[in-house]
Amino acid sequence: MTNYFLSKLCCPFDKSDLHLQVFTEKEPDLIHEGLLTCPTCNRLYPIIHGVPIMIPDNYREAQLEQPFFVTWEAQLSLEAKEKVKQQLTGVLF
Ligand SMILES: [Zn+2]
Repeated sequence: MTNYFLSKLCCPFDKSDLHLQVFTEKEPDLIHEGLLTCPTCNRLYPIIHGVPIMIPDNYREAQLEQPFFVTWEAQLSLEAKEKVKQQLTGVLF
């Protein structure tokens, strides 16, 4: 996932521009893991193995995303941690 491609994405719910936090890159400008945050609705969209997870809330699976959020817990703001709890029932820090 390149920064260029990410710049074309928006929140699927309200079309807002997303804030990007990069955790790891496979090579310069090739994001491997990171987090997209919507400043309008505050939804979080993890980038896992280069793929942004941007599916509707009721189709998201906490069990699949939990390892990601546990791995990067130290990088998340308190606000983001709270949102993870709200957004993904069953994912607790
Ligand atoms: Zn949004």
